[in-house]
Amino acid sequence: MYSIAIHGGAGTIDKSLMTSEREKAYKLALQTSIQKGEEILKKGGSAIDAVAAAVCELENQPLFNAGKGSVFNAAGKNEMDASIMDGNRMLAGAVAGIWGIKNPVLLAKEVMLNSEHVLMMGKGAIEFAKQQKFELLPDDYFFVEARYIQLLQAKKAGVMQLDHADHKNKKGTVGAVAKDIHGNIAAATSTGGMTNKKFGRVGDTPIIGSGCYANNNTCAISCTGHGEFFMRQVVAYDISCLMEYKNLSLEDACNEVVKNKLVKTGGEGGLIGVNRKGDICFSFNSPGMYRAMIKENEELFIGIF
Ligand code: ASP
Repeated sequence: MYSIAIHGGAGTIDKSLMTSEREKAYKLALQTSIQKGEEILKKGGSAIDAVAAAVCELENQPLFNAGKGSVFNAAGKNEMDASIMDGNRMLAGAVAGIWGIKNPVLLAKEVMLNSEHVLMMGKGAIEFAKQQKFELLPDDYFFVEARYIQLLQAKKAGVMQLDHADHKNKKGTVGAVAKDIHGNIAAATSTGGMTNKKFGRVGDTPIIGSGCYANNNTCAISCTGHGEFFMRQVVAYDISCLMEYKNLSLEDACNEVVKNKLVKTGGEGGLIGVNRKGDICFSFNSPGMYRAMIKENEELFIGIF
């Protein structure tokens, strides 16, 4: 039995500002993305390939804060972070503060498979990308007007803004978790980070154990939310630990971390998880999270609020 879940960010998604066209566009994007992952799983492909394919599709959509739709940093640039982890081989790859790469999740996968490292950042990561024959796109590929307006507003207010905190332009970090028919699980996460971020700020997304984690013995997790809180709480690994050392179920572990521990420290956001049985969990402490899941021979589920 295979299963796959994806997210397109969690946050204050205001129902009253959601037009039916907007909702349709989000749902279609989520559906297309999860289907890309499912196609691979259906053919007996691996969880790691399925999460990468689903995240690529979300990165190609201007609707989400990753790849093409990435938010702007204080310098008016798009700097992206991504990570991926294979719960079978316990391999991981990540990139931070990169630019010009259409699908940062594929570069993270490249780091995982074709380098001896786990995390590469900035110029070095770009050098590696060139060496591995990744195409470098010009800045205008990543220019999305709504994003630029968000930056101008954040600058005016003098804040670094979580994408989810912008009530009119809800778009979020993206991620996927999957279990394949061979019993292996994997997770991937990709983001443009936070609007108006400064000083080379990096969030939880490329930090293995915080924004992304996978271990066949426990779970695969992909997070979205205010990265600083997710890093301090080592969210994804904490869930795995609660399952491994305290025998909590996937759902209880996710809820303990998201709805109790994170809330106590003021951390807003959510996550998706899968265990080796293929159970899926969505957990968020914000009003909404763009999400979808599908299990073999079951109906597709898509949710926002
Ligand atoms: N977690 C991401 C970060 O802090 C942001 C997000 O999920 O929207 O960079």
